[in-house]
Amino acid sequence: MFILLMGPPGAGKGTQAAQLVENFKIPHISTGDMFRAAVKEGTELGKQAKACMDAGHLVPDSVTIGIVKERLAKDDCQKGFILDGFPRTIAQAEALDRTLAELDIKLDRVVNITAPGSELVGRMTGRRICKGCGATYHVVFNAPKQNDICDKCGGELYQRDDDQEKTVINRLSVYQVQTQPLIEYYQDKGLYTEINGLQPIKTVLKDIVDSLRGGQV
Ligand code: ADP
Ligand code: AMP
Repeated sequence: MFILLMGPPGAGKGTQAAQLVENFKIPHISTGDMFRAAVKEGTELGKQAKACMDAGHLVPDSVTIGIVKERLAKDDCQKGFILDGFPRTIAQAEALDRTLAELDIKLDRVVNITAPGSELVGRMTGRRICKGCGATYHVVFNAPKQNDICDKCGGELYQRDDDQEKTVINRLSVYQVQTQPLIEYYQDKGLYTEINGLQPIKTVLKDIVDSLRGGQV
């Protein structure tokens, strides 16, 4: 199953991808996670990405397209993947089409998780991530059993630098200008499904799985 997960920042892509990985046993490829890993390692890519991420801007297409192309060519992606947070521009979507054609891969579905901006700000500012395993929590909507401790691995939870309110607002406007046009791009290809991200996490997951299995949402 080749799945593309779209949606504004904070809509729940990472949360759902973590569940879909369990269901479908395919890799989760998140460009945001790849950039955060590069920042942690202190590589040149990480330095370049950090400046963009901290400002709430997109990392340049030339850089982003290169890392995704390399990742999708790996063996573990040939039977399926969940692509999360890529593409975010029309140029990235066109590059993805070319890469998939070279690999003889066809996308099965583009799932767009939607939620209004007012909800997204609260989701991002309340988001907490595990330093150990990367699991995502929310201080109110998906709280860990023990404050600031990961339920899964006992790791310490932290707040992403780019989840401060000011950066979050920039990220939402970048989404509207640069990423929203992709909705029409994938509608035109007949691959597009919209999922109401305002529902509880489990209901969103059920709707996504139903849509992937061809059921009605
Ligand atoms: P994205 O990957 O799209 O940026 P995340 O999956 O990281 O979004 O979710 C953003 C925040 O919202 C996280 O703190 C997560 O726990 C919370 N969240 C995700 N889905 C829901 C939901 N359906 N209802 C309430 N909170 C949610
Ligand atoms: P995310 O984890 O998806 O919220 O992404 C965090 C940040 O990483 C974004 O705000 C961008 O700065 C950068 N980023 C992630 N994916 C992309 C992409 N496809 N194109 C450009 N920048 C990206």
